[in-house]
Amino acid sequence: MRIEMTCPTCGSHEISKNGTTRRGKQNYKCRDCNRQFVEDPQWKPKDKNTQALVNLLLLEKIPLAGIARATGVSDSWLQDYVNACYEAVPKTAEVVPKVKSKLKGV
Ligand SMILES: [Zn+2]
Repeated sequence: MRIEMTCPTCGSHEISKNGTTRRGKQNYKCRDCNRQFVEDPQWKPKDKNTQALVNLLLLEKIPLAGIARATGVSDSWLQDYVNACYEAVPKTAEVVPKVKSKLKGV
């Protein structure tokens, strides 16, 4: 059964129903990235302009509350959006090894 939903994390349409939340909302699960989410009006993708602006501001290391105020999105939407962005980032964290200037032996 195909559901007309889009995964907020990976954009996949392979969404299956996954029971309901405590509040009785339909819960969904993405079959591609396993993200679970509920159909929430707050989670409707923002229009492209707003999202582009959010993306820009996120790069500026502005506090999320400030971004939410500036762009008019809700704090919770923004938090979920950021979480989704982080989840979408491949798990290969870029770790720059610190050069230790430890003198060994002699
Ligand atoms: Zn997904």
